[in-house]
Amino acid sequence: MVYSSRGLALLLAFCIAFITTLFLSLFRSIDVSALLVAFVISFSVSYLLIFVVLEFLIFREINKVYKLVTKLKKKELSKLDKQKPSSLNPLKTINEDIFSFAELKQKEIDELKKIEAFRREFIADVSHELKTPIFAAQGFVHTLLDGAVNDKTVRTKFLKKAAKSLDGLDVLVQDLLTLSHIETGQIKMHFESIDMYKLTEEVFEQFEEKGEKRSIRLRLEGAENKAIVYADWQRISQVMTNLISNAIKHSHDDSDVVVSFDVSKKNVVTHVRDFGEGIPTEHQTRIFERFYRVDKSRSREKGGTGLGLAIVKHILDGHNTRAEVVSVPAKGSTFSFKLPRIKPEPADSGDKNDHHKNDH
Ligand code: ADP
Repeated sequence: MVYSSRGLALLLAFCIAFITTLFLSLFRSIDVSALLVAFVISFSVSYLLIFVVLEFLIFREINKVYKLVTKLKKKELSKLDKQKPSSLNPLKTINEDIFSFAELKQKEIDELKKIEAFRREFIADVSHELKTPIFAAQGFVHTLLDGAVNDKTVRTKFLKKAAKSLDGLDVLVQDLLTLSHIETGQIKMHFESIDMYKLTEEVFEQFEEKGEKRSIRLRLEGAENKAIVYADWQRISQVMTNLISNAIKHSHDDSDVVVSFDVSKKNVVTHVRDFGEGIPTEHQTRIFERFYRVDKSRSREKGGTGLGLAIVKHILDGHNTRAEVVSVPAKGSTFSFKLPRIKPEPADSGDKNDHHKNDH
């Protein structure tokens, strides 16, 4: 850059000096030595001026590029170290920059490695979970084919067991799809004003029969039009379904499952409480992980996929909130989550959520 600007300055200065000398030579009074001096002076002055101007222009362009590069660099490095003072020694600064950049890239590589390990672990878990019901159904069908089909009582029993395994498989695949859709952002949240009391009543309807069979009373505390929140009806319905289903599954026969609300000025905290087996403290932080179960075989026996609470966690993440659990072994558990409250509208709020009844 410097050489080309010098060359250009030389050329332009020479042209200017030449034109000036040519112009002066028109005057007869000026002799050759004076013309020579004029040439040298005009050449030197023009050269200096042009060179300085060119350098200034080039410097300005370089500065622009440098600023852009610094901006880009800052963006990358700000992730790494915000407070790092820049050194006055340029070589040291470059050295530090390279080091920081390498460190940043290493962090990214580590992150990718973690994701890859997580993906592998997930595939292994899913394969294992899918294998269990498939193998069970396969076993029953082969036993039937090997002769059991001729015995009417055994036939019905085995077919029922195979059907149960396949139903479990269906639930598992549905849960996996839900989870994957939420994680990949394919499900868009549809936020609106919803009545938690009404929503819970609807969810209770699904479990009435199940509850009655084991004399589990589903109780709803509070009143309509009090616990109005800003959330996605269908997703929160799924959260309540999973929590209430778990509460029933882990309750003792002839006990209560209670849903209640703490309504404050800004929020509504929903509690789902059971008086069942409870969760040992060491498991409480892990139950929201995929496929984590306190008792694997018992969970499967009860039709659990190990994904219910992971789905709850993801949906609540999408609502910028999370579930809390308070549980005492042999006494019961309470799962709670907070949602932003909306003040009820005076006149028409009564039927506000009726359109959802047949939506899902
Ligand atoms: P699952 O399909 O096995 O119920 P979840 O993700 O819903 O899977 O729950 C994870 C584990 O947390 C369950 O296997 C169970 O051990 C425990 N759990 C969840 N809810 C309750 C509850 N209300 N009472 C006792 N244990 C519970």
